[in-house]
Amino acid sequence: MASESQGIAVTGSAFLRGQILRELQTAIGAENVSVGEDDLQASAADWSWMSKFISFQGLKQPAPDFVVRPGSTTDVSRVVRIAADYKVPLIPRGGGSGTQGGTFAPYGGIAVDLTRMNNIVNIDHESLIVTTQAGIDGPTLEAELNKSGLTLAHYPGSYHLGATIGGFIAARGAGVVSTKYGKAEDQVLQVEAVVANGEVVRTLPVPSHAAGSDLLQTFVGSEGTLGIITEASLRIDPLPAARSFLAFSFPDIFAGIEAGRRIMTSRLRPAVIRLYDEADSVKLKDWVGVPFTGNLMILMCDGAEQLVAYETAAITEIAVGVGGTSLGEDVGLMWWEGKYEPYAKGKLPQPPLMYGTFDTVARFADIPAIYRAKKKVIEEEFKDVGARYTAHFSHWYEWGTMIYDRFYVDNGPTDPAAAMALHDRLWDAGVLASIEHGGVLNDHHGVGLKLGRFMRPQYGHGFELMKQLKAAWDPDGIMNPGKLGFGPPSNSVW
Ligand SMILES: Cc1cc2nc3c(=O)[nH]c(=O)nc-3n(C[C@H](O)[C@H](O)[C@H](O)COP(=O)(O)OP(=O)(O)OC[C@H]3O[C@@H](n4cnc5c(N)ncnc54)[C@H](O)[C@@H]3O)c2cc1C
Repeated sequence: MASESQGIAVTGSAFLRGQILRELQTAIGAENVSVGEDDLQASAADWSWMSKFISFQGLKQPAPDFVVRPGSTTDVSRVVRIAADYKVPLIPRGGGSGTQGGTFAPYGGIAVDLTRMNNIVNIDHESLIVTTQAGIDGPTLEAELNKSGLTLAHYPGSYHLGATIGGFIAARGAGVVSTKYGKAEDQVLQVEAVVANGEVVRTLPVPSHAAGSDLLQTFVGSEGTLGIITEASLRIDPLPAARSFLAFSFPDIFAGIEAGRRIMTSRLRPAVIRLYDEADSVKLKDWVGVPFTGNLMILMCDGAEQLVAYETAAITEIAVGVGGTSLGEDVGLMWWEGKYEPYAKGKLPQPPLMYGTFDTVARFADIPAIYRAKKKVIEEEFKDVGARYTAHFSHWYEWGTMIYDRFYVDNGPTDPAAAMALHDRLWDAGVLASIEHGGVLNDHHGVGLKLGRFMRPQYGHGFELMKQLKAAWDPDGIMNPGKLGFGPPSNSVW
């Protein structure tokens, strides 16, 4: 499907590619349109195991036919109109730090790289709201906010990997302080998006209202399948005056889960609660140098000094009350200072190692059963391939928590098809075990191409309604086809 280098040909789809190329160049400037093979490959790649494995094997990523780099909402609208005229897929791309194959282009088309759209539009100091173009990355936005004592308080593990605000909203992201400051869906107040016919839509200026059902939250998490987010307004916070760090050791993982449940249902709001099972605690030691074995819980409270003092005392009482042993401040502080270390380039797991991060979310009442079931299914059903399972619980809610659990296979098949098949089987086993026990298939990485097949078992008939909504908004299915389980474009041009 990749195009000829200049897209100039006289017959069939090759002619069409040339026509589309010329129209894109006229619309947004030739310098902002690329059909170079390296560009096409890079714009499809993400941080999914599948993408890394494809590169490792020297194979080709499922690439688009064109990459465009719009500089404004008007540019995006022009590109979408051309795509709509020719019924050509559009694949939005931010930093490409996604882990679900969301930027793959299995049906070819136009990758829309938003990273030139990186301007802060406005900081409203009165309402504490920042409005920014969608292609800005986290560190750039945060540095600007910090200058006036403000923060977005969104620190994902991919903070230094180029993750953008558009990708954060599109895939319902969460950073390490989300327990207090919220996820994408809590922080975003308004979006501007370009929809499938090229029209620009702006949701209401505030997220809470009684003006009908919620357009904003329909865009949030839609992963480019309903529109391309071009601008967003987000809640910001004052930088905290004080922080405290706590760490506890628990005799088993379930005591730790109970401590987290009591903290959250007491309506305390630490910014960080991270509970590691034994296997993950060991990993933490290897990565950030925290000298620990057992079931480790790290917490951080922040805000006004009196609030921090109160929360620190109340949390200590709860944790010790369910069998936790306090480890003092240092372990938590070491974790905070090294929090991006596990994600530093070179330290992340890489092929030929096979791995997958399930990232499941559920009510407190369902969490122990989900943890047991997934650990069992990975370790027992895949014993023959030596599968390992690790888990931590890192984003907590008033009603439940998420399990950031991973499988690893040290020596997977070298044959690409066999490796992909094993990878799929591991995912099937883990995700279906989650759903069976009341879990939701993902907390903050999104669905992408990788998890699309689980949308029907997850939602039941609800997924048919979601497909109808998608068909109404995007009748030709050109918006990021293949993602979220929505299938191929309906009327592909080639
Ligand atoms: C090491 C590592 C650690 C990570 N840690 C975290 C973490 O702590 N928390 C977390 O939430 N995620 C994490 N992620 C996942 C990923 O970084 C996030 O999902 C991130 O928000 C994606 O942003 P991006 O700009 O890179 O999006 P991309 O990877 O470019 O795109 C992701 C999806 O969003 C769509 N998309 C992107 N921009 C737009 C737009 N403007 N409009 C519509 N659709 C769009 C794409 O089409 C794709 O489907 C991690 C990833 C890695 C590799």
